[in-house]
Amino acid sequence: MGIGYEETECKNDFPLIRENILKNSSSNDYEKARTEWDFEDIIDEKDTDFVEQCELCNQVGLKSNYIISNSLTSKKLKVGSSCIRRFILLRGTTSQEESNALFDYKKKQLLNAKKIQAVLHEVLSDLPSTSAVVKFKSASKDILGTLDNKQIEPSKWKQYINLLFGKYNPKKEVLDRVRMVLFGKVKTRKQKFDTGEEAGRWANTMKVKKRVTTTLSDSEAYHSKIG
Ligand SMILES: [Zn+2]
Repeated sequence: MGIGYEETECKNDFPLIRENILKNSSSNDYEKARTEWDFEDIIDEKDTDFVEQCELCNQVGLKSNYIISNSLTSKKLKVGSSCIRRFILLRGTTSQEESNALFDYKKKQLLNAKKIQAVLHEVLSDLPSTSAVVKFKSASKDILGTLDNKQIEPSKWKQYINLLFGKYNPKKEVLDRVRMVLFGKVKTRKQKFDTGEEAGRWANTMKVKKRVTTTLSDSEAYHSKIG
């Protein structure tokens, strides 16, 4: 699944993990306490909030933090994925198997949402690059299950828009634009040096390219070539 967001095996130090779960949960009963948690987000080393150590088992060298939250205690823990898989029963599930399936599903959704967010600004601009639109549509299709407008259930669409914009209510023009990119056709711009890298690097490339173009068009050599 590309760079980052790797899963890390945690230590199997059960007494310590149980203590940490109980300390941060509402119930004093371990079996109940471990059902109080939601899987909320994934962050990696580039994120300022990233911690190297699993907050359940103290394992170091994490590549990603899986953030779980407890709405009863308002506590959040940054942990390795295997601790969630072994010791947490995500809220609303009744078995470890079910919980792990929900974890995998949510993880996929979150990663797709991150891919989308990396190109969202670009896609909403007047003339996005072809590759940004392709990435946007592919990750969106993964979330929505289809890019056939009529087959998308309203609840799924609502969830998708939530993933894209979070708490912010997007304007109608923005929503129309998203629909146009997904279901219609938009003008795009081919990129010469598209490396498929993340948005930040892309932005730098564009800055450089813009500067070069400006210099060129201002130079006499350029004009003389045309004239
Ligand atoms: Zn752990």
